[in-house]
Amino acid sequence: MTNYFKNTPDKDGLFGEFGGSFIPPELQAEMDKITEAYYTISKSHEFISELRSIRTHFQGRPTPVYYCRRLSEQIGARLYLKREDLNHTGAHKLNHCMGEALLAKYMGKKRLIAETGAGQHGVALATAAAYFGLECEIHMGEVDIAKEHPNVVRMKILGAEVVPVTHGLKTLKEAVDSAFLSYLKDPINTIYCIGSVVGPHPFPMMVRDFQRVVGIEARAQYLDMTGELPDNVVACVGGGSNAMGIFSAFLADECEIYGVEPSGRSYKMGDHACSMKFGKTGVIHGFKCKMLQDEAGEPAPVYSVASGLDYPGVGPEHCLLAEQGRVNYVDANDDEAIDAFYRLSRMEGIIPALESSHAVAYAFKLAQEKPRESILVNLSGRGDKDIDFIVDTYGLPEDK
Ligand SMILES: *Cc1c(COP(=O)(O)O)cnc(C)c1O
Repeated sequence: MTNYFKNTPDKDGLFGEFGGSFIPPELQAEMDKITEAYYTISKSHEFISELRSIRTHFQGRPTPVYYCRRLSEQIGARLYLKREDLNHTGAHKLNHCMGEALLAKYMGKKRLIAETGAGQHGVALATAAAYFGLECEIHMGEVDIAKEHPNVVRMKILGAEVVPVTHGLKTLKEAVDSAFLSYLKDPINTIYCIGSVVGPHPFPMMVRDFQRVVGIEARAQYLDMTGELPDNVVACVGGGSNAMGIFSAFLADECEIYGVEPSGRSYKMGDHACSMKFGKTGVIHGFKCKMLQDEAGEPAPVYSVASGLDYPGVGPEHCLLAEQGRVNYVDANDDEAIDAFYRLSRMEGIIPALESSHAVAYAFKLAQEKPRESILVNLSGRGDKDIDFIVDTYGLPEDK
């Protein structure tokens, strides 16, 4: 593990055979500038102090690690949550958005642009833009706009422009396409703030680095609370940023690590987004990864009840960690996630995001396999954005 973070990715942005940069030359020139700026600026004392001050005073970090007493008694394993739902704006995403926006400020950029699925990345980026006084343009699929209405309103209140995306499945993948096109129109004044550990180099590395704070805090807090390290660490995986955030601190430890992908309605193509389980190596949005593909090698349609998880690709570092056998990639389906959503709400008084509910659901399965072990789950976000959708679609448990 020595120098893992210095050497991974390599100078070309490769995590083993994954990652890299597969983009048009004019965009590559801009990406090289961002990479160069990141390597110099992010190591400066000024940048680090400013980011640390933002984390403490604006985001409210460190977020706590919480022991779930009632649920632990019920499931027979000790369940702990890293409370990223308590990070400002209600999810882990602000960790990388503040980092990206701070880099934009140091680079003299005027405008932030991004895609969003569940709306969490859009809200986090709009928040960062307001904090730094930058313009902000967020691309979002029409399906997600309808599903995640409160987040759309939040972005507008924060002063961002929300661009509806009306082609294809009208979800996350199409929103990425649309944001890329808009970015290409003015890459000098704009920075594309990718919302996860995906996209061309340096984003998978940069977003991981900004998310490492989650794991660094959680490992120290867990040690402080229990005098040992957790037996198991669990996080949900869409693109994989919250997972890389927490996993990164435990890679050199003995604990088992689980990344949970959404198996949606079934294992049939189009019914899930298990890129790691069913994907083949391919290139999507400028980087190489395990990717769900149709017969023509195009990104396959994906589905999950959690808008933030339905992406046909996955971060390149996860692909490497899977290949090395260091992280286990598993899945939880819609029904299991909804069940976990209500159980955590009613047993602990914490309403989790639908995305995070997948990690909690897998922790319940793990508790059956490994009673008496400890499980640390990254609770990536809060569920306020999902409540109307869940109650309208599934009803309350007692309605059944
Ligand atoms: C966006 C989001 C995710 C999925 O993104 P990752 O990059 O895989 O972490 C998970 N949880 C919440 C709450 C989100 O908003």
